[in-house]
Amino acid sequence: MQVRFHYEHTSEEYVRTEAWQSANLGHCPLCSRGPGEGFSCHTAYERKRPAGAWIARYYCKPCQTTFSLLPDCIAARLSNSLDEIENVVVTVEKASSFEDAAFELRPELKESGRRRWVRRRVNRVWLMLGIVATLGVLTATHRTLTVTALRNELGTDRALVALRPLVNEHIAHLPTPVGFRRHHESTWKKLKRLQHKVGPDPPP
Ligand SMILES: [Zn+2]
Repeated sequence: MQVRFHYEHTSEEYVRTEAWQSANLGHCPLCSRGPGEGFSCHTAYERKRPAGAWIARYYCKPCQTTFSLLPDCIAARLSNSLDEIENVVVTVEKASSFEDAAFELRPELKESGRRRWVRRRVNRVWLMLGIVATLGVLTATHRTLTVTALRNELGTDRALVALRPLVNEHIAHLPTPVGFRRHHESTWKKLKRLQHKVGPDPPP
């Protein structure tokens, strides 16, 4: 189970300072047991990306659950930092076409591979923003369906990182990469079908 580790710096800083060493979970989020009651530190695991980033973990024996402390700079269930994913989405939003953006981002991949790589990230973020817009945590909710608009509203070019604390109480139910809810395969099949019909343009 993923738990939020409040961390406002970049993923580079996270790796450089080995910030996972200071990630601390006082008690089990499910049953509130603490150290000495079956709740203890567990071995950290290494992420593929960002390179060199480790994730601190805790384990609750009574709940038989492992908790991963995901820092705010890192995406849930996608490789990359949130800043890297934000850059991918903004590149698509600003490009004259999806193909141009995909080529700019992953020129080393074959066309189908880079389309898939970019679409996977962009669709997830747009879908997530559509849900965030209904939560009432932003003022201009009807205009924040793109990351470019979210940047304007929050006044930062690290908008996805800034968004995570704002949706803290919804984090378990909000889709990745900002929230922790796993996407259902059927959601993607539906989105894919839709995309074949309407093309990869951003939502209105
Ligand atoms: Zn527990």
